[in-house]
Formats: sequence, C-alpha cells, structure tokens
Amino acid sequence: MKFITNGLIIKEQSIGEKDKLITALTGSHGVVKGFAHGAKDIKSSKCAATGLLAYSRLTLHTGKESYIIGDARAIKIFSGLRDSVEAMYLGQYFCELAAALCPREQKAEDQLRLILNALFLLSEKKRDPLTVKACVELRLMCLLGYMPDLTMCRECGAYEKDGMRLLPRTGSLVCRDCYSAHELEDLKIDLTPAVLTALRHCCYADSEKLFSFKLPEKDLRLLNFCSEEYMKFILERQFKTLKYIKDLI
Ligand SMILES: [Zn+2]
Repeated sequence: MKFITNGLIIKEQSIGEKDKLITALTGSHGVVKGFAHGAKDIKSSKCAATGLLAYSRLTLHTGKESYIIGDARAIKIFSGLRDSVEAMYLGQYFCELAAALCPREQKAEDQLRLILNALFLLSEKKRDPLTVKACVELRLMCLLGYMPDLTMCRECGAYEKDGMRLLPRTGSLVCRDCYSAHELEDLKIDLTPAVLTALRHCCYADSEKLFSFKLPEKDLRLLNFCSEEYMKFILERQFKTLKYIKDLI
C-alpha cells in the first residue's frame, strides 16, 4: 500500500553507506518511521528532503517493520535555524519532544502545525527563543491531553489575587491565603500577574494567536521554569536536548 503525506523529519539515522532510517511527524499518521534508500547520496533528491528539520512531501510504501520512502521532496528547509546555535538546539528539542510524545499511526495535525509554526518563527527570527519554547512546551502538553487547570485558585475559586502560585505536580493554581491555610503540595512556584496571564494564554489562546505576546526577560524565564517543571512532573522524564538549551539561553 502507498500513500503520500507531508511530514517534518524529526530523527535521521545512517544505515550503511547509502541509506537512512528517518522518523517523521506527519499530520495524517502522526509519528512514522521509514527507510530512505540512497538518501545519503547528495545527488539524490531525497538527501535534503530527509535531513533533520526538513518539512517534506513523502511517498510512503508499507514495509514489514517500517515504511519505505519511495520519494521525498523538500517543501521547506528552515535554513535560518542554522544562524544560531540556540535556535538549532531548540529545533532539535522540539523534534525530541515530538518523537517521544506525539501519537503513532494517528492524526497529529495540530501538533505538526504547532512545531512548524515554532520553527518558522525561530528560523525567521520573529520571536524570542524563550517565548517560542514555553509556547511549544505548554501547548504540546495541552494537545496531548495534559492541560493544566489555570482558571482559578483550586481552593477558593479566585481568578486573580495577589500571590497566585502554580503547583506543578498537579498543574493547578492556588492563592497565597489558601496555600497557607491548607496542607498543600510542597513544591510551588510564585507567579507574577504577567506570568499567570502568559501561562493562561499559552494554554487557552487560539492557535493563530499563540505566539503573539511579549514579556520582560525575567518573566519569560519564570514562564519557562513553570513549563519545564510542569512537564517534568507530568511526564516523569527529562529530555537530553533541554540540558544543552539551558546552558545556552
Ligand atoms: Zn484561594
């Protein structure tokens, strides 16, 4: 059986001297693996189209254990990512997240669109890398079914109050008064009003408006700390590319 789909190459492995095994995030089939015969030959049209972070039109044939890539044509190469080490690592981090978390053999259109938009903004230098990172982390968690409950203090129902805190173990909010009055989770992150608004925006805003906010650097770092801690507790795992990014930005 054969089908044609568009996908972002999220992993690239060499097989022998000429071939590659690639993993792609597609809108129609989620994460797929495919052998690309002859794709290491720089004269092959498949070479650039099967490189990491290429967005390509892929012709996939059903194989025994993975697909066979009959043809691959690049649609978009995010070449601007190469201008900055941090943008390149962030791109690789999004690939690692997608490979680990996105569904296989199921539609993943929203996840693919999220990561393509993020790569475009990074490649064109239209957004701060820390803004893009927090948006992708939080929105991806929401798309995967782990949306935090940021509507109100979970104890008294206050929407806005001084001293709101994020409880990253459960992805919930609590105000200062309720935190002191109850025996709550040991780990809490004190939020500024701007960071609370940004957290809500990252989770609840329409996808077209997702990346369109600005925060001062101090708040942006706090927003990133919130998204990282929330992911760490919910997913119970760490990502190796995140370590490199944290050394850089
Ligand atoms: Zn409260």
